[in-house]
Amino acid sequence: MPRFRQILDTMTAYSPGKAVAAPDGRSYKLSSNESPYDPLPSVVEAIAEGARQINRYPDPGSVRLTEAIAERFGVPVGHIALGAGSVTVAQQLFESVGEPGAEVVYAWRSFEAYPLLADLAGVKSVTVPLAGEDHDLDGMAEAINDRTRLVFVCTPNNPTGTAIHRGALEAFLDRVPEHVLVVLDEAYHEYVRDEDVPDGLTLYRDRTNVAVLRTFSKAYGLAGLRVGYLIAQEPVATTVRKTIVPFAVNHLAQVAAIASLRAEDELLERVERVVKERTRVREALIAQGWTVPPTEANFVWLRIGERTLDFAAACATEGVAVRPFAPEGVRVSIGSPEANDAFLACAAAFPH
Ligand code: PMP
Repeated sequence: MPRFRQILDTMTAYSPGKAVAAPDGRSYKLSSNESPYDPLPSVVEAIAEGARQINRYPDPGSVRLTEAIAERFGVPVGHIALGAGSVTVAQQLFESVGEPGAEVVYAWRSFEAYPLLADLAGVKSVTVPLAGEDHDLDGMAEAINDRTRLVFVCTPNNPTGTAIHRGALEAFLDRVPEHVLVVLDEAYHEYVRDEDVPDGLTLYRDRTNVAVLRTFSKAYGLAGLRVGYLIAQEPVATTVRKTIVPFAVNHLAQVAAIASLRAEDELLERVERVVKERTRVREALIAQGWTVPPTEANFVWLRIGERTLDFAAACATEGVAVRPFAPEGVRVSIGSPEANDAFLACAAAFPH
C-alpha cells in the first residue's frame, strides 16, 4: 500500500450537488447554484471557433481574458490572477500560505471547499460559528492571531445567502493585521441587490491585504468550463499567479469568458430574472409559513434542522434536487419558474 499524507485518512472528497429524477422522469437540479439558462448562442459560437485550436496548448497567461477583465472592471492587468474556477484560485491562495503552523479563519457554515482546501494545504482551519445566519465578524476578528495567514469572508454567504453590509465589513477590515490576507469570496456578487452591500472592488484598492474572488460559473453561466479570478493589489496577484498549475485555464474557457464579457448585458438581464424569481420564491415560502433569511444570492436557505435529509428526500421523489447540509438545513438554487414551482410544491407539502 503506498503511503499517503496522514490527513488524507480522515478527509472525505468534496461531495457536489447531484441531479435526481422523479419516477415519471421529471428532473430539476437546484443543488449547485448554476445558471438555469442554456448558454448564449454567441458564447457557443466562440467555443466552436476556439475548438479549432485545441491541438495547441492554451495561452498560459490568459492574456486576452485578463485584459478583458481589466477593462471591464477598470483595474490594472497586474491586479488579476486567473484560475480554473474560483475554487482553484482559492486553492492557490491556500498553497500560497500553507506552511507548518499557518491558520485560516472562516465562518461556519460557509462554502464547503474551505475546510477541504485548508486540509490539503496543511493549513489549520479556525472556524467561527455564524451568528444566526450572518458572519460573526467580531468573533472572526478575535480568532485572528500571529499564525493566521488567511481569512475567508464569503459574501453573499454560501449556503445562507446573507451578505455583509459596508460599515460592518470596513470596520472588520480595519481590525485585520496587515500580515493577514482577507479574501472576499464574491462568487454570487452579481445577484446582490441590497445597496448597503459593498462591491469588494471598492474595498481592495487602498488595502494591500484584501483580495476579491469572482467566478464565471454563476451569473455568467460557465460552470462547466471552469474559470474564475482574483483581483488584488499587485504583490498578492503576482504571488497567486505563480501558484497556478501550467495551462490550468483551458482555451475554450478563455474564449467563452471573453465572449461572456462581450455579451454581459444579455447575461445580466438573465440575472435580473433570477433575482425576480428569488423574490417570488422567498415570498411564497414565507406565505407557506417557512422562515427564510434574506438572500442576496441565487439560492434560498431553509434551516430545517434534524429533518434536513427527510426534506431533501421528499424533494427528490418529485425530481427536485436540493442541497442538504445535515443536520442544519437545505440550500435551494433559484432555477427556471417551472423548477421553482416544483420546489415550492414540495415545500408546501412538507410538514412544517
Ligand atoms: N465560492 C463560493 C462561495 C461558491 O459557492 C462556489 C461554488 N459553489 C465557488 C466559490 C467556486 O465556484 P467556481 O469554482 O465554479 O468558480
